[in-house]
Amino acid sequence: MSIAQPNTADQTTLDQVQLLCGLQRRYFTEGNTQPVAFRKEQLRKLQRVLKKHEQELFDALYADFRKPALEAFGTEIGFIELELKLAIKNIDDWTKPRKVPETLINFPAKSYVYPQPYGVALIISPWNYPLNLLFTPLIGAMTAGNCAILKPSEIAANTAAVVKRIISQNFDERYIAVVEGGVETTQHLLAQRFDYIFFTGSTQVGKVIMKAAAENLTPVTLELGGKSPAIVDMDADLELAARRICWGKFLNAGQTCVAPDYVLVQEDVKEELIQQMARSLQEFYGAQPADSPDFARIINDRHFKRLCNMLTPESIRVGGKTDAESRYIAPTILEISSWDHPSMQEEIFGPILPVIPFNDLHEAINMVNRHEKPLALYFFSTNKSQQQRILREVTFGGGCINDTISHLANPNLPFGGVGNSGLGSYHGIASFDVFSHQKSILNRGTWLDLPFRYPPYGNKLKLLRKFFDWL
Ligand code: NAD
Repeated sequence: MSIAQPNTADQTTLDQVQLLCGLQRRYFTEGNTQPVAFRKEQLRKLQRVLKKHEQELFDALYADFRKPALEAFGTEIGFIELELKLAIKNIDDWTKPRKVPETLINFPAKSYVYPQPYGVALIISPWNYPLNLLFTPLIGAMTAGNCAILKPSEIAANTAAVVKRIISQNFDERYIAVVEGGVETTQHLLAQRFDYIFFTGSTQVGKVIMKAAAENLTPVTLELGGKSPAIVDMDADLELAARRICWGKFLNAGQTCVAPDYVLVQEDVKEELIQQMARSLQEFYGAQPADSPDFARIINDRHFKRLCNMLTPESIRVGGKTDAESRYIAPTILEISSWDHPSMQEEIFGPILPVIPFNDLHEAINMVNRHEKPLALYFFSTNKSQQQRILREVTFGGGCINDTISHLANPNLPFGGVGNSGLGSYHGIASFDVFSHQKSILNRGTWLDLPFRYPPYGNKLKLLRKFFDWL
């Protein structure tokens, strides 16, 4: 069975982009987005719009990669709804100036931090969670009082087209606008001066974005990718570990930035883990995963071919079947012994899970630390001291102990990478913070003006030292 091959969206011209940026800048400068009541009303409108068009969005996600409705709701639409609810509930608190403790040096004074919108934000998103990764940052931008231009990925073209339509029908383009297009369009956008750029995508393109942002010293958040390990220690609950790893890996057919990219397993429990993972896959998708309504397809032919090159026959332990017409790759487990394998040369981003054995945890930690800092890490062990050791000795964006991916479901945990896996974080209040400049203001009393700081200094240094010692 073949599924819709996305079309490349129309490119947006440089003139159109310039015009739009100018309109948004004026709208922002006029103060339209400043009132909290306006922001709340717009967030509520977004809530209504998404509800009203939910079915069209489900259909578009299905057309793009046969994303199952439960996954589309749980990881995209439902996720966005929760972020919206949280923002609407807390916006009054988040936007209030925050009083900070005073220091005697400035007596008498009061100090506050005023969160202020940056202005016009550019949000660029990838194709794998085309709603979540566009709307979740947008909620932060709106809550913080910014205007926003959204650049969805041209690769999930069906979803991008619905997003463009529902946003342009419901929001003033001077406030929120969707610009469709590919690399050329993004380059037009990057040639403009934005006040904030929020990018989600590959590390390679992240570097292009940061270079362009540097021209105008525009602050950026980069939510990038990489190879996220799941490490299974000898005292893990193997049945549970297998189930949770398979769920996190094969969700969205492995096209998830925080999917466990590969498994490092302690040699003594390797066979048992592989058997348990095979069992989990059978339970999830049946004997013929191609017939399961719960297993998505690869987004396009380029990625399908790229992934097929990783399927070396001698390493396949489970799965391995493919169908080019429907861009189907079966949930596949590979057993490999070294990082030279094709699946270890880049982020897999598909339903292929290599398993590599290690002898002791030290070796596993070294393997991870020899490579770029991962976006996520998942450690499976019941041993508390080994858990602490992983947290202490490995740097990674975030992750779970004895689970995969679920850290994203807690909006109180800022989500982001580190090093090559990203810069900055968001979700919940962190999304509001990311799109807010923290303006620090000291409001000084006028009834006292000690002469210490004013020239002529004479022998005031001694006094000043004493004062500092006393503080
Ligand atoms: P990508 O970097 O190819 O594309 C992302 C966006 O950048 C798209 O909108 C695309 O149009 C634009 N783009 C592509 N090439 C460009 C160029 N040369 N100049 C300017 N803009 C360009 O990423 P993708 O293939 O859409 O998504 C997959 C990657 O995204 C994976 O590496 C994955 O790990 C990462 N990702 C990260 C997160 C996260 O939250 N950290 C989430 C999802 C995906």
